[in-house]
Amino acid sequence: MELFLRLIKYIKPYKKELILALVCMLVFSVCNIAVMPLVSNLSSAVGARNFTSINILIGATLALFLIKGLFQYGQGYLASFIGQRVVTDMRVQVFKHLQDLSLDFYAKWKTGEIMSRTINDIANIQLAIVVIATEIIPQLLTLFGVLGYLLLLNWRLTAVALLITPVFVYTIDQFGRQMREIGRNAQKKVADISALLQETITGARIVKSFSMEAHEIKRFNTEAEHSFGWSMKEAQVDTTQRPIMGFLQVLAIVAVIWFGCFEVIAGRLNPSDLIAFFAGAFLLIDPIIVISKINTTIQKALASCERVFEVIDIAPSVREKSNAEELPPIRGSVEFNNVSFSYEPGEEVLSDINLKAEPGQTIALVGPSGAGKTTFINLIPRFYDPQKGNILIDGFDTKNVSLLSLRKQIGMVPQETVLFSGTIKDNIRYGKIDATDEEVISAAVAANAHGFITEFPSSYDTQVGERGSLLSGGQKQRIAIARAVLRDPAILILDEATSSLDTESERLIQDALQKLIKGRTTFVIAHRLSTVQNASRILVLKDGRIIEDGSHSELMEKDGMYKRLFEMQFKERTKEAKGTDQMQLLF
Ligand code: ADP
Repeated sequence: MELFLRLIKYIKPYKKELILALVCMLVFSVCNIAVMPLVSNLSSAVGARNFTSINILIGATLALFLIKGLFQYGQGYLASFIGQRVVTDMRVQVFKHLQDLSLDFYAKWKTGEIMSRTINDIANIQLAIVVIATEIIPQLLTLFGVLGYLLLLNWRLTAVALLITPVFVYTIDQFGRQMREIGRNAQKKVADISALLQETITGARIVKSFSMEAHEIKRFNTEAEHSFGWSMKEAQVDTTQRPIMGFLQVLAIVAVIWFGCFEVIAGRLNPSDLIAFFAGAFLLIDPIIVISKINTTIQKALASCERVFEVIDIAPSVREKSNAEELPPIRGSVEFNNVSFSYEPGEEVLSDINLKAEPGQTIALVGPSGAGKTTFINLIPRFYDPQKGNILIDGFDTKNVSLLSLRKQIGMVPQETVLFSGTIKDNIRYGKIDATDEEVISAAVAANAHGFITEFPSSYDTQVGERGSLLSGGQKQRIAIARAVLRDPAILILDEATSSLDTESERLIQDALQKLIKGRTTFVIAHRLSTVQNASRILVLKDGRIIEDGSHSELMEKDGMYKRLFEMQFKERTKEAKGTDQMQLLF
């Protein structure tokens, strides 16, 4: 019931259309019911051999069906309109909500699962709304109208017809319960399949490099078979209920005929009304069949509703305060005060971090994999909120300012750049959506990307392919740098790529980054010696704690972990004579 009430909220904005649809349904049902007096009068007219009446009644019947058809159209059109509107609104709401949700949601939920809920489940709800409006309501109106008329004709005969109703209701309810349970599982299986499909498509390269195709096919087959199993269970319940309901109908009609004959013989019913009664009894069949069938659609839709509302009800873990103030243009000082953070309760990933970065400084973060470097930088734009302590930017607590005003002053160049399908220009413009073409080009020039872009036949209008698949890793990185240049942020966050690029690409990227870093407070997860040596400060992280903090020369003098690592890397470097270094590997 609660689900129903929630669903009705989505229909509310379309009250006008709903009222019009209800009027259409009402006329449609009245037309249905009017068949009975027509039949009764027709049989009387036949008895009286009154040809004029017969002609008029036949004409009236034709007119009735014409009107019925017209209003059926109106009702169908309006119901679809409402159903499609609700679905569109719901999808947009879910999408908006997905944009609001924090990164922890995306870490926990499988992409395919989210997609299945947004696409398949919402489609189920739409189907139910259309079916309710086009079938259930008019059929219910017909059901009550016909029953009312039958009561007027002969209440005792109607009572006989109704005696069987509780059996109907009980049977429908039982089937409905089963269908809901099975529907929930069947939907879940569809979501599992989407999730698997999504994983293997995005991970196609990994699947191939490990020759895991057969393994993946086996996994998919298992999931597909599970889905088949549940779909068959669904079909079984659905097909069992038809003959059972059909038999119950026959039982009701036979009982009516049998008892009706006695009523006529006893003189309590005239024969033409008995014929109208039969017509009425047959008119009841459709509503009963439709209602019993629709129950399953509704049960399935309710299961889908639950799944959609479950997503809608997840609150974003990072939320803006209702009285959040705008962060004014910043100079770029960043302060961590006793910051501790954990993803899971009790498992601290960052412990008691204290730091003050002055505007324009470059802070390099080094440390072994899993030390907490990514987590550290993710706290600055508030992708996550620390459980203890606070982070101040130019003295403003990040928790008190609006997310938009905070994030638009922070630029990020990630390790793996994600490009969106579209042109190179669109992708660079992601840094500043209203940038002019000239601004885009000068950002690309600064990012050393202009050269390779203009070599493409379509230049800036080149399509990058899905997730930028048509560009090389180095090219994608330079696009990411161009985005950051365009954004012109006071704070910059860099996550250096660990994978080695060819020397030329590497040089171009390093050069572009040096230009980008100038004048900005930069946090960099550093894997390259040059970056670390040139940083104003180096933080060595281990198990979520800063174990060393200072400039390259200061840390070298300290004779601690950093010095050991640096020397090891230096040896490694001369040994391998590689253009790039992977500091991370040495910890
Ligand atoms: P680094 O960047 O130094 O390799 P991370 O900040 O990525 O380290 O990870 C620090 C720790 O937090 C690791 O133990 C990692 O397993 C854990 N971790 C990272 N992301 C999540 C997450 N979304 N949920 C739970 N634990 C996480």
